[in-house]
Amino acid sequence: MKIYDISMEISHEMPVYKGRTEKRPVFKIDNDFNKGSAYETRLEMNLHTGTHLDAPLHMIEDGKNLDGFDLDKVITKCKVIDLTHVAEKVSKTDLEAKEIQMGDFILLKTRNSIENILEKDFIYLDKSGAEYLSGKKVKGVGIDALGIERAQPGHETHKILFSARIVILEGLKLDEVNEGEYFLFAAPVKIKGVEASPVRAVLIVGM
Ligand SMILES: [Zn+2]
Repeated sequence: MKIYDISMEISHEMPVYKGRTEKRPVFKIDNDFNKGSAYETRLEMNLHTGTHLDAPLHMIEDGKNLDGFDLDKVITKCKVIDLTHVAEKVSKTDLEAKEIQMGDFILLKTRNSIENILEKDFIYLDKSGAEYLSGKKVKGVGIDALGIERAQPGHETHKILFSARIVILEGLKLDEVNEGEYFLFAAPVKIKGVEASPVRAVLIVGM
């Protein structure tokens, strides 16, 4: 069995959405061996930091939060699709060239995994791509960007996917992973009432 860790490392210096200072995780040492007999760290961060899962409430008023989230949605077989040739955004035509079936959990590997563009003009899934995946009735879609879309003020990609009950994973790190089939584990942390959660995402081969 081989395990690929496809999670981003969380640190103050890590890439954050559009490079915004307020999005940087802040670490504080609550207790250490100078003060007491234990070491304890406090972490303050936006739930959309690094590798994370989005729930409908993120973009839809009164949408579902993560309470009662079904783990079999993210502990499942998946397909990594290589789209590293795509220049700006992943559209319907890019996806049509790939083998995508009903019930698939699709991970989009793009230039984001190999170039230093996460805080800039990262590759995203556009509206036509989201409509295509929704028509295909996929189970989930993950991307190696800190947002699954940008440059679409109406957030159409998120809304189309959420309306079709498609799970969204963001902030994946796919540089070491080739196109192919894997077993995905990407369980969210069990936090009450929230619209997103960090996940430790791994791909497993030979299970
Ligand atoms: Zn998010």
